[in-house]
Amino acid sequence: MNFLVTKNSRKVRSSRWLALGAAIGIILLTAPRLARSDNFVFYFPKSHSILVTKRYGGVQYLPVLKILNLFGQVGGQKKKRKSLEVWLNSTHIQFRQNNPNVRLNHSRLRLQQPVRVIDGEWMVPVDFVTSILPTIVNQTVEYQQGENRIFVGGLRPNSFTLHMTPLQEGAQLTIQFTGPVNLRTAAQNGKWILYLGSHPVEPLQSEFQFHNPYVAQVKFDDHDGQPKLIVTPAEPGLDFFPKLGEGAKVIVANILTPGATAAAQVPAPSAAAISSTPQPAQATPPTPSPAPAAIPALAPNSSLPAVVLDAGHGGTDIGAQGKDGLLEKNLTLQLVAQAQKALEATGKYRVVLTRNGDVNVGFDQRAAEANFASPIAFISFHAGDMGPSTPRVMVYSYRPSSPLAMAPEPDAKSIFVNWDRVQLRYMGQSSRLAVDLQRDLERTTKVATTPPMEVPVKVLESIAAPAVAIEVGSLDPNSNSSALTNPPFQKEIGAAVVAAIEQLQGGQ
Ligand SMILES: [Zn+2]
Repeated sequence: MNFLVTKNSRKVRSSRWLALGAAIGIILLTAPRLARSDNFVFYFPKSHSILVTKRYGGVQYLPVLKILNLFGQVGGQKKKRKSLEVWLNSTHIQFRQNNPNVRLNHSRLRLQQPVRVIDGEWMVPVDFVTSILPTIVNQTVEYQQGENRIFVGGLRPNSFTLHMTPLQEGAQLTIQFTGPVNLRTAAQNGKWILYLGSHPVEPLQSEFQFHNPYVAQVKFDDHDGQPKLIVTPAEPGLDFFPKLGEGAKVIVANILTPGATAAAQVPAPSAAAISSTPQPAQATPPTPSPAPAAIPALAPNSSLPAVVLDAGHGGTDIGAQGKDGLLEKNLTLQLVAQAQKALEATGKYRVVLTRNGDVNVGFDQRAAEANFASPIAFISFHAGDMGPSTPRVMVYSYRPSSPLAMAPEPDAKSIFVNWDRVQLRYMGQSSRLAVDLQRDLERTTKVATTPPMEVPVKVLESIAAPAVAIEVGSLDPNSNSSALTNPPFQKEIGAAVVAAIEQLQGGQ
């Protein structure tokens, strides 16, 4: 999957190669694939669209009919050799070739540059999007001069600041966003890519160069409509530990010499949960060296090992529903609360929740919050249709949907976390945790259980820790769900969670 070069931008480049001749073509062919594209992204409150720009006499142009089509049905158009008339909603718009004046009904507006017909397509200079478009579509349009993106309809993009802090054997990037982002990682051409989710980002600065032995450059890119940061390491073979925290508003990424653990470099947050060393939180010695700046503060008791509890579903995603109207999203919150209480009562663990209250949380966001905590375990709670006998409990751990996904990672030496694959490293520990948890559930709830199953559970896929899902049932339109909301039953599940975590900690 290559998100970084769209078909359209390729087409533009290839026609340019033909025009410029083979010699220059070869140079362009060897240019990095992440080169600046000619895409222009229109961000709407719930979607985005990409148009390809063209240059004419040093001026950037956009296809005007395609722009108007993004905002409504073009009611009619009359194309002549020298003029174009368009009807959109109640507006009659007239463009003239090589003329900067545009007629809107009976008024006349002026562009900074003339309208052109380029390769047979009517094109307007980019200033059209701020000088004329808002009047036609009656919506606010925000555009930062020189950028290839606009925000329509009062959409507030996130912006961010970035700091680099040198570490003993690496560097730490701290990226502070103005609003929550998602985080999904990938690697391409020796660079690390941090996908930031679908909410648009407007960078105050889009390229950061460093004179540092670990990180050479960080670049913001969204020319495919996917906001992302591209991190170029100063040399190959370094390890990369990105994490998302602080209400999903801060990304901290450690770039380290292989073998150097982040925990030894900085007091917190430790990234050692994604190395192969078990139980990083306990193994971390107190660090006497002064703390580098810009490390996000962690919750109190952050020295305790973290257990992440994930209440499935939430917000508009209600999950399953019982005969008496019990919703899975509410039941999972109850189960999480009981397990949290039981874990905290031991005084040995700190609980991190992926969801607080009745809100929608995406899989990536759950994984990002979880991985930021460097947890010793991740437990997701669900409820569903499990047939006529109730209550019942099932435990699942992760298996990829296709055996191909089990193939070794391209660079097996690197412990870079590619989020599509990270749970693969924990499958053994996860299935052991599932076996323990199932046995403990059977013991505490006295409910007959079946052996854990390995299935492609999406929410477990990107978790950098031993991870399991518990499903209780039956929650379906034909079953009475009172057995599932019964407080003793929920407490027994909490007790089983504690027992399984204790075994995980005790018996490596
Ligand atoms: Zn569910």
